[in-house]
Amino acid sequence: MNAWILLAGWVGFGALAVGTAAFIVTSIIEGRWRAARVAVLVFAPLLVILAPVLAVDYPGRPWLVLALLVLGVTTVAILTLPLGQAPPLRLEKTQERIDERDAVFHRFYRLRPGMPEFDEYYRWNPEKYEFDEKVRKLPQLAHPGTGTYDPLSSPFTIAAFDVLEGMTREIEWTPAPIEDGPLRASPEEFTRRVKGFARYLGADLVGTTKLNPAYVYSRIGRSPGKWGEAITLDHEHAIAIAVEMNHEMVRHAPKAPTTTETAFKYFEAAKIAMVVARYINFLGYEARAHVDGNYRVMCVPIACDAGLGELGRLGLLMTPRFGPSVRLSIVTTNLPLTQDEPIHFGVQHFCGICRKCATNCPSQSVDSGDRKFVNGAEKWQTNRDTCYRFWRTNGTDCAVCINVCPYAHPRTPLHNAVRWVVRRNSPARRVALWGDDLFYGRQPESQPPLPHWHAKTGSASG
Ligand code: SF4
Ligand code: SF4
Repeated sequence: MNAWILLAGWVGFGALAVGTAAFIVTSIIEGRWRAARVAVLVFAPLLVILAPVLAVDYPGRPWLVLALLVLGVTTVAILTLPLGQAPPLRLEKTQERIDERDAVFHRFYRLRPGMPEFDEYYRWNPEKYEFDEKVRKLPQLAHPGTGTYDPLSSPFTIAAFDVLEGMTREIEWTPAPIEDGPLRASPEEFTRRVKGFARYLGADLVGTTKLNPAYVYSRIGRSPGKWGEAITLDHEHAIAIAVEMNHEMVRHAPKAPTTTETAFKYFEAAKIAMVVARYINFLGYEARAHVDGNYRVMCVPIACDAGLGELGRLGLLMTPRFGPSVRLSIVTTNLPLTQDEPIHFGVQHFCGICRKCATNCPSQSVDSGDRKFVNGAEKWQTNRDTCYRFWRTNGTDCAVCINVCPYAHPRTPLHNAVRWVVRRNSPARRVALWGDDLFYGRQPESQPPLPHWHAKTGSASG
């Protein structure tokens, strides 16, 4: 009996040693030197203490080893059993449609002094005028005068957004005429084709849902079309598409590479949505892609409905695999499709106790308080105005909140294991957050050198 207890003790010791080594190696590969250092400082003494407890013969050794084993197994059970499911986002039945002219990008990307729309908008919203005028005096993203401007690398971002804009202006396509009418197939068959095609085109996540009319903008603002015109979109279904952002690029937030990545992944998400929409047109059905700069619908709530993730404190979609490191596009259509179910994986609870995005936001724009009901949804409210003002000062779209989010760690086996336990277990969320702060720091650690092709002129490194 004693021999079996000792053997089990050595197995537990081996698991701890292997887990520690795996964490240190993973951290070094990720360039997370602080995490590797802290792991050595925490676990090396623990292993040094435990080794003689197992190896040295003394009275009561089996009982001490048994007690440690019970402690270890109980801890693992408490942290991995499905305990304390987090509640989903609370939605009220009445959600009003949003006017796209209330979105911050409308004010800075469509309104220009001298336009009749400009005068009309500020006549209705005089309280915004002073703030907006100050922001308008700031340089544009990736332009000279911003904190991150570089003549050779800033145009990466401009180029991607420029091509994207040219590509996405005209996307009000109509179904192709088909002699016998639209092609017939079951919703399951259509869904299988559409999802498979989207994945083939590069989508990392695809989901389908009924289109909630509350998520269709009420009037045209930034997007192409007659300014202020009422939006009519009677499509019954929506396809939500997410493209993962490159972790190495996001880690440079708020420097320029992260915005190059943003622009390129908006480009990718737009490309997929547009080709999928056109494919549906050629089946004989209506479809419209909703892509960066040309939305008639709100992406995040639709992606939540389609089961891609949950709304996080930072106001973005949080996905189980990629955290907030995704860019979205949507296709709305009257093609018959099946519906995915919304998912809940603990985000409302984790964001409630975490606040890391709020702590690190350079403009204090992320809500650090409790959720409040805003237009029928109980959520945290990011201040988009101050966030955008920081973008214009810094010259990038920042993304510090994405970079520091514990859900945004790369998809290594160790991080995936943590994702699995926090999804199902409330105590594990608290332990994971404590561990994230301990190993990675409450504030972001120093960043890796910029990619050599993205380094500031005259300071190439990496
Ligand atoms: S950093 Fe924390 S609070 Fe913010 S979105 Fe991520 S998990 Fe939620
Ligand atoms: S993008 Fe930057 S400024 Fe905006 S909310 Fe996130 S951290 Fe704050």
